[in-house]
Amino acid sequence: MPKTQEMQKCNRCGEVKPLTAFRRHAKRTCGYSGICKACRKAEYESSKGYFGPLPEPEGSQRWLDEIRRRAKVIRKERQQG
Ligand SMILES: [Zn+2]
Repeated sequence: MPKTQEMQKCNRCGEVKPLTAFRRHAKRTCGYSGICKACRKAEYESSKGYFGPLPEPEGSQRWLDEIRRRAKVIRKERQQG
């Protein structure tokens, strides 16, 4: 058996996954993103289908800003029904 891996619960899907399933996130105290890669990818794919392609390279500040902007728009529209 391998050494016990550190686990973390995903804030989105609620599944407990090994830290390797999360992106590193320097600003968080635990050092990892609170949302797993699978959920992040799903989010990315849904916003891509909604608004068209995102700026490259993936993971850059511009890319991140665009993701956030789109997420905000989607949230607003959902609230309005
Ligand atoms: Zn998840």
